[in-house]
Amino acid sequence: MTAASHRRRDGRSPFVTALSLAAVCVLASACSSSSTDFTTADTTLVVMLGTGTPNPDPERAGSATAIVTGGQAYLVDCGPGVVRRAAAASNAGIESLDMPGLTRLFVTHLHSDHTAGFADLILTPWVLEREEPLEVYGPPGIQSMTDHILAAFAADIDVRLHGSQPQNEPGIQVNAHEIEPGVIYRDETVTVTSFAVPHGAWEHSFAFRFDTPDRSIVISGDTTASEAVVEACSGCDVLVHEVYAKAGWDRREPEWQAYHQASHTSGVELGQLAARAQPKLLVLYHQLLWGATEEELLAEIRQSFDGEVVSAKDLDVY
Ligand SMILES: [Zn+2]
Ligand SMILES: [Zn+2]
Repeated sequence: MTAASHRRRDGRSPFVTALSLAAVCVLASACSSSSTDFTTADTTLVVMLGTGTPNPDPERAGSATAIVTGGQAYLVDCGPGVVRRAAAASNAGIESLDMPGLTRLFVTHLHSDHTAGFADLILTPWVLEREEPLEVYGPPGIQSMTDHILAAFAADIDVRLHGSQPQNEPGIQVNAHEIEPGVIYRDETVTVTSFAVPHGAWEHSFAFRFDTPDRSIVISGDTTASEAVVEACSGCDVLVHEVYAKAGWDRREPEWQAYHQASHTSGVELGQLAARAQPKLLVLYHQLLWGATEEELLAEIRQSFDGEVVSAKDLDVY
């Protein structure tokens, strides 16, 4: 694959007619809704496949992000809807997100809003002619989850493999890698480093830093405001961070307030964190708003952070 095979084979600009839901942003420059020409951009892309939470907002799929570089997509989390959002991005011209190319997955933690699309990601790209195994890197427990999904779908897998349908065998294989903090993946283009973050009662919850030839990207997963994120970013190009609106949190019941405070990061806290981490672009995802507006959320961030910040929607590209 070429270094920029997220370009269309027909040479057309991949985004200009595409990603109708997306405001397209490149690097830390200002967003553009229509005129950016990606055919000349050898840049690593951050594609927001799902910016949702456990709340089933029809506009926001479950948590899933794709780093696209060097002709390969690297998925982070596989919340419900991940495969259809990947198809939408692929149809829009990011051909690295074609079904057969979905072979690399990194899982931050095993909460269902980050993993309920795992079965879909194992099965559907295989049916659509993925010919390589799916390599998944995740916390302890990812092997067991993989085994149980494959067992649950044994009848489907059997009839596809041994019925009349043309079907390859390698593409249904899943190689699960249970990770610890440190460098967990490296190829000729990308190095992925995991680090532990605090997320409520979870014993294992990870964030990831991706280093590519042109960009450094940190994805927080679910976490409270963590010094580990500040250190991992420290001037990174893009920090994709979860957040809740304190304005909405103020109206929650005390039991839920305690839970969210112990599990997630408020807009006020994230602004303070970003002021020290100094990302060139801060991307908000997994936004818990509880009736607050995105403008209120962004105002919380800007109390302390005067850098560039955007509140992502599904299929936004940065
Ligand atoms: Zn979550
Ligand atoms: Zn979580």
